[in-house]
Amino acid sequence: MARTKTPKPRYARSQELSALAVTLMPGGVSSPVRSFRSVGASPVLIKEAKGCRLTDVDNNSYIDYVMSYGPLMAGHAPAAVRAAVAKQMDKGSAYGCTNELEIRLAQRIATLMPQVPMVRFVNSGTEATMSALRLARAATGRDLVVKFAGCYHGHVDALLVEAGSGAMTHGTPSSAGVSSALAQTTLIAQFNDLVGLTNLFALHGPRIAAVALEAICGNMGVVLPVAGYLEGVRALCDQYGALLIVDEVMTGFRVAPGGAQQLLKLRPDITCLGKIIGGGLPVGAYGGRAELMNQISPAGPVYQAGTLSGNPLSMAAGLATLDILAAEGAYTQLENLAVKLARGLELAAAAFHIPMVVQRCGSMLTPFFVRPGQSEVRDYQQAMQCNTTTYAAFFRSMLDAGIMLPPSQFEAWFISLAHTEIEIEQTLEAATTALGIVSQMPAAG
Ligand code: PMP
Repeated sequence: MARTKTPKPRYARSQELSALAVTLMPGGVSSPVRSFRSVGASPVLIKEAKGCRLTDVDNNSYIDYVMSYGPLMAGHAPAAVRAAVAKQMDKGSAYGCTNELEIRLAQRIATLMPQVPMVRFVNSGTEATMSALRLARAATGRDLVVKFAGCYHGHVDALLVEAGSGAMTHGTPSSAGVSSALAQTTLIAQFNDLVGLTNLFALHGPRIAAVALEAICGNMGVVLPVAGYLEGVRALCDQYGALLIVDEVMTGFRVAPGGAQQLLKLRPDITCLGKIIGGGLPVGAYGGRAELMNQISPAGPVYQAGTLSGNPLSMAAGLATLDILAAEGAYTQLENLAVKLARGLELAAAAFHIPMVVQRCGSMLTPFFVRPGQSEVRDYQQAMQCNTTTYAAFFRSMLDAGIMLPPSQFEAWFISLAHTEIEIEQTLEAATTALGIVSQMPAAG
């Protein structure tokens, strides 16, 4: 009897490996978003990546808009980064002593970001914000920190506190295991609401050590500051003697050569960095003026250290990435591609009468599936009103079409120098089909 061979399911190997992974690692992942839970999909496992494309363990290929959540401005494994890392690896991967590449990268950062003449390298964005907070508390002798609902600064206990209680109230922990005493030191404000922040300062001003924010938010989806808002935040910090911590882990060297602070003419006291300065290898950094930074050990009393901090492989990859970005026209190229993608998505959504607003800054963007009549997303509350069911269906359809989007409505999409008009057009074609499918869903409108 003739037997027809049934085709292997598209994600068979990923599913097989995921089943094993969940027995060995919580949720089967090393970072929660990778589980694809919020989009109702089973995770794909990646075996290799090159340029703007990923290949999964079932040999499916994807145009990538996750780009490792931001570091890969030059794409996956660009030749110059590979060469720099290989060259460094030949000389050793970690010394436990200072290496010259740290100094070169610190110099490069200081040139691109005049507000950061001195940095301390760490291993992740989380470490950068955690240490920045410690420094701010030490420098001011105060305890409280203001953060904004929907801004993410890594999994630092004191910064894992969200809204819910709204401005002017003390925060409640949004992760189990965060001590409530610590959560009490975090005050929550709404992004883009200067009146709320003014009231918070009026109540607690003399106890506020720092205001920490993403100047351009990427972690509730891309949300931009309204005109005058950041100037107002800066002025309040000055008035009350609080430090302004600008978290540029995502936006640094992404939205402009000198980050959001250059683009928005913002003057942070402490800047947090990560992602791009490690070119895809683990890294973080925090920096500011010498008078502040010299309070860090061993120059000063604020203790902070790291076995692999300033790791020469990360430093080499970061320097090579910044070299690529220094090429004439790099940011214009990114901007043009992002504009094309953003406009194309809006047009495709409009054609199916799906309410969508694409918010963008340079090469980071988020298409929000907004409520009918909603014309923008200004803060966390508005972001939370978006239709995550529609986003999830859109995500799954795009994944099946070979487009890797962030597995959450509330993440930024990233474009790299490895993307070209061809991939943007392929993406828009797939998006048109996917939006056609979701427009048939009852929840879409
Ligand atoms: N700050 C911001 C603005 C981030 O986007 C992130 C990570 N996405 C972090 C801090 C934490 O960085 P890491 O994941 O390297 O700890």
